Amino acid sequence: MVGVVPVRRRPDGDRVGEMETKLERKMSDPLYIARPILPTLRELEPLLEGIWARRMLTNCGPLHDQLEAALSRHLGVPTAMLFNNGTTALLAALRLHDLPPGSEVITTPLTFAATAHAISWNGLVPVFADVSPDDLTLDPACVQAAITGNTSAILAVHVYGTVCDLDALQDIARSNDLRLIYDAAHAFGCKVFDRAIGSFGDATVFSFHATKLFHTFEGGMITTNKASDRQMIENLRNFGIEDEEEVGSIGINGKMNELQAAIGLLNLPLVEAEHTARARLRQKYEAFLSDLPGITLQPDQAGVTRSEQYFALRIDPDRFGRSRDEICAALREVGIIARKYFHPICTDFKPYRGYPIHSVRDQPTAEKVKSHVLCLPFHGEVSDEAVRKIKGEFLAKSARW
Ligand SMILES: *Cc1c(COP(=O)(O)O)cnc(C)c1O
Repeated sequence: MVGVVPVRRRPDGDRVGEMETKLERKMSDPLYIARPILPTLRELEPLLEGIWARRMLTNCGPLHDQLEAALSRHLGVPTAMLFNNGTTALLAALRLHDLPPGSEVITTPLTFAATAHAISWNGLVPVFADVSPDDLTLDPACVQAAITGNTSAILAVHVYGTVCDLDALQDIARSNDLRLIYDAAHAFGCKVFDRAIGSFGDATVFSFHATKLFHTFEGGMITTNKASDRQMIENLRNFGIEDEEEVGSIGINGKMNELQAAIGLLNLPLVEAEHTARARLRQKYEAFLSDLPGITLQPDQAGVTRSEQYFALRIDPDRFGRSRDEICAALREVGIIARKYFHPICTDFKPYRGYPIHSVRDQPTAEKVKSHVLCLPFHGEVSDEAVRKIKGEFLAKSARW
């Protein structure tokens, strides 16, 4: 609960702030799916003083450049370009490749709406292909089935941090002359046999929204394997400005400001401990979920370092004995807010309603699993007591008990 605290005055009479808000966490507060990492205000203060002294508030100031360099190192990619949010980064990543207007971009329906919207905002047509029943990422066979003479790109999502079938998608892209772009909003810090997740395909997009493990309140990034992409991405995120006298392309305002960058610089060192805490929480969840009938967890992938962005599971009501919606409602009763990500799926939303899901199966997997998926609270401050509560609900609702 956010409570308003009376204005404090310094002994000299100066107001500390017009209004101070204080986060009061009570036992009765609901447990949400995410809880953002944050530095202390004391740590933030010197960075704010620097911003105030320089009066350089945005347009790629020193904190912005520091964060960009730090993330490029942290993620192990040659090109890492910051954006003001993940959605503008997605817009720019699609622009980067000069896709023919009106051409088709194949994507997954099991994602956040921003993925499909970025395609539409670029004057391109989203074409939905089904997900794999094994890991819920874009199914290469279904991508193949969705390709037409008008297809120009694939926008695949490492959903829940589960890594897409990189080799198969790359093969399809190569043999059909398609650009391959990844939405890695859930995959910050993922590695595949020590290779950075941001180094696959033609471009990878990250979100640094407050709900993401690493965040800058709002923020985003494009990474690519080629240092030569830098200039073009820089133009795209800054109105297409080439120099004082020339605007060379239809860019956007995608710039991250210095306040966001300051938060990013202070949050980055906190990521490791949060990641470790979530990995421990994953083990606690797995310990009681992995042998319940009708419960499917996201698979362990060979060679993959998990992002620990989400803890997603599927509940098959026929085998489990209770539906996802029943479990979700029961958890809510005891103050635990699990989320049905990503239900409804994109093709259920007004702008995309009636769009087919291209599949090699009679019933698309995405249609089937959308009523099975559930994400549990997943952050470093989920207590053992909360885990016991969640366990209690699952065991009580399981057909086996
Ligand atoms: C969070 C998210 C985005 C959008 O990021 P914003 O930074 O909120 O604009 C895009 N795709 C997926 C899959 C996401 O989860």
